[in-house]
Amino acid sequence: MKIGVLSRDAKLYSTSRLVEAIKAAGHEAQVIDVTRCYMNITSHNPGIYFKGEKLEGFDAVIPRIGASITFYGTSVVRQFEMMGVYSVNESVAISRSRDKLRSLQLLARKGIGLPVTGFARRPDDVEGLISMVGGAPLVIKLLEGTQGIGVVLAETENAAKSVIEAFLGLKTNILVQEFIKEAGGADIRCFVIGDKVVAAMKRQGAEGDFRSNLHRGGSAELIKLTPEERSTAVRAAGIMGLNVSGVDLLRSNHGPVVMEVNSSPGLSGIEAATDKDVAGMIVSFIEKNAKPFKTKTRGRG
Ligand code: ADP
Ligand code: MG
Repeated sequence: MKIGVLSRDAKLYSTSRLVEAIKAAGHEAQVIDVTRCYMNITSHNPGIYFKGEKLEGFDAVIPRIGASITFYGTSVVRQFEMMGVYSVNESVAISRSRDKLRSLQLLARKGIGLPVTGFARRPDDVEGLISMVGGAPLVIKLLEGTQGIGVVLAETENAAKSVIEAFLGLKTNILVQEFIKEAGGADIRCFVIGDKVVAAMKRQGAEGDFRSNLHRGGSAELIKLTPEERSTAVRAAGIMGLNVSGVDLLRSNHGPVVMEVNSSPGLSGIEAATDKDVAGMIVSFIEKNAKPFKTKTRGRG
């Protein structure tokens, strides 16, 4: 097979591990920086040009689209889909998962456990919003934040009120969320491929930080999931329509709650914590599932 890894940097751990795993399985790999791609979107014979050369002969692509290039990146994935190339995560599913509000609404509709979360537009509604999620302390999140940037813990009602008002004043969309204190600054990353959690780790935030993101100095260790956590993660990934994802859970007093579902989960932390060949498992999934024009939406959504 010829498999493209859609990534801006071949030297990143996740990218280089995927390339290594593709080659180890006897396939051909090419790293494609989507920001260097251009395409004729109206052609009857859709194509993509990368640094001036037409991309041809691909059986599958693995999108690793950074949050800052979601719009352009998903448009390139959609073009691959229109060319009949199998994408391990569909463009529609990637766009869906990037929007925390849209994701939570979809997960809520299917009864997935979630922290109580509110959304509002008008500063007049701030008090109602705060009491709706159970008062302070509470968490305020930018809709498209990532790696822990844009997540704020407001410890008192006054702090919550002024931070929320400031964001709304800037016309920034935010979610206001119940703070799951009992999680103790830790969360659980479940790496889901297809309908299985193939690896899981517990991430503990740096001393004094309620955010457990490894990018914010958190540390990771192996963890054993409960059957409920496992099924919650698999269901959440399925609802988002992602074949490869990182589902983040918090252990709350009312069972596992999903915080978010990531469409380009990092491999470095999870492979180090679990000593598993997660990249190889992604390639095996592609071997079993890649077929021309298999994308359900075929880029129509
Ligand atoms: P990002 O997309 O920036 O990673 P998250 O929603 O995953 O944003 O939040 C980052 C981290 O903050 C989480 O991994 C978790 O440790 C902590 N966190 C987020 N929301 C809550 C919450 N409602 N209660 C407790 N901790 C939270
Ligand atoms: Mg996160």
